[in-house]
Amino acid sequence: MNVSVAKESGVGERRVAVTPDSVRQIRAAGVPVLVESGAGAGSFHSDESYVEAGATIVSDPGALWSGAEVLLKIQPPLPHPTLGRHEAELLPEKSVLVCMLRPLSNLDLVRTLVRRKITSFSMDAIPRTTRAQRMDALSSMATAAGYKAVILAAASAPRFFPMLVTAAGTLAPSRVLVVGAGVAGLQAIATARRLGAIVEGYDIRPAVKEEVESLGATFVGPAISKEEAQDASGYAKALSAEAQQKAKDLLRARIRQADVVITTARVPGLPAPKLIPAEAVAEMKPGSVIIDLAADMGGNCELTAPGTEVVKHGVVIHGPVRLAGTLPVHASQMYSRNITAFLLLLVKDGNLVLDFKDDIVRETCVTHDGEIHHAPTRQRIEGAAAGSGAGAASSQGAGAAAPGTPGAERSSA
Ligand code: NAD
Repeated sequence: MNVSVAKESGVGERRVAVTPDSVRQIRAAGVPVLVESGAGAGSFHSDESYVEAGATIVSDPGALWSGAEVLLKIQPPLPHPTLGRHEAELLPEKSVLVCMLRPLSNLDLVRTLVRRKITSFSMDAIPRTTRAQRMDALSSMATAAGYKAVILAAASAPRFFPMLVTAAGTLAPSRVLVVGAGVAGLQAIATARRLGAIVEGYDIRPAVKEEVESLGATFVGPAISKEEAQDASGYAKALSAEAQQKAKDLLRARIRQADVVITTARVPGLPAPKLIPAEAVAEMKPGSVIIDLAADMGGNCELTAPGTEVVKHGVVIHGPVRLAGTLPVHASQMYSRNITAFLLLLVKDGNLVLDFKDDIVRETCVTHDGEIHHAPTRQRIEGAAAGSGAGAASSQGAGAAAPGTPGAERSSA
């Protein structure tokens, strides 16, 4: 077998799926590595550094794609910018693809992979188990996004984050509210604290209270029982109408006093909950900043414009959709370690061995041998074929898999 690393073709994408350090690890497992020329340029890894690590550089992208046995990527296959064909059509039949496939948002792509008998694994479906932690690319990207959200907020805000005692008097610290205390939210809380802001963390899952407080922030979530707030796998679930109202009222009061609000709230497989209505933005102090990290799933704020920034009622609202990609060095390093750990699970004595009895391999597999293995995606595609409500969702639409379904759609932040 060989492993191929393609140059990412997404507009503005600067990350690379495999860094030279990981090439060394893959080579040590007895597997040759082919890297497309320039693949590491956006994250400052030269072709020479890949050659030193033991990779072979391929200058012709057509040759790289058509010769791939196992292709490693970050983004799902896209129309290739120079070869005039879709990358999923360039891959050889029966080859293996590993990337952040986001299958529930890319149903047409999944259909192509099935037709071409490509075995695909989605890094966003890695189970959230202790054994799979090293492969958890979602957490890696959420860490980068949570950090960068605070940097973006600080750069956008018209005031300091820390309290400053100056000859011109004392300047009050900024008040930062982080909504959603998952991986991205906790990283945002930690970063805002390091910059000296007064930080509050809000979440509907009471389980995160201790984590928020351990970072030096105040937990301001509503008093909702654990059973009401989260499912068996620890993810948030949709709330009852009464609990929703209670949570909304509390949140509205906290938003009003914040200078910066960073939102990260998600429910797996569903559009992001709308937690900041337009009226709440109107009540904020002019000059306040909102960073909506759920913008790619529709946004937590009603006024968010995904992929851009808008100013409403004197409040700057950012809706970044690929913030992790703005830290290409560390985001690539983390992703590369995650995908390499996953790849090495598939390699025995230098050969590809797919052991579907292994829960990580099984749950991460989307298509194999002309069939859809990923249950939520199969249900969605069968639903679409039958013209049912769930299946009628657009192939680009936000997922509607059962909340908490293992491997349900997750964002790559
Ligand atoms: P996520 O991206 O699914 O959601 C972000 C946060 O939004 C969550 O904390 C969620 O509770 C919150 N949220 C959802 N709806 C909300 C609402 N209406 N109001 C306020 N907040 C709302 O979360 P994630 O970062 O992927 O992490 C989800 C869980 O998985 C966490 O418990 C995390 O600790 C756990 N996790 C476990 C592992 C592991 O064991 N390997 C790895 C990563 C994450």
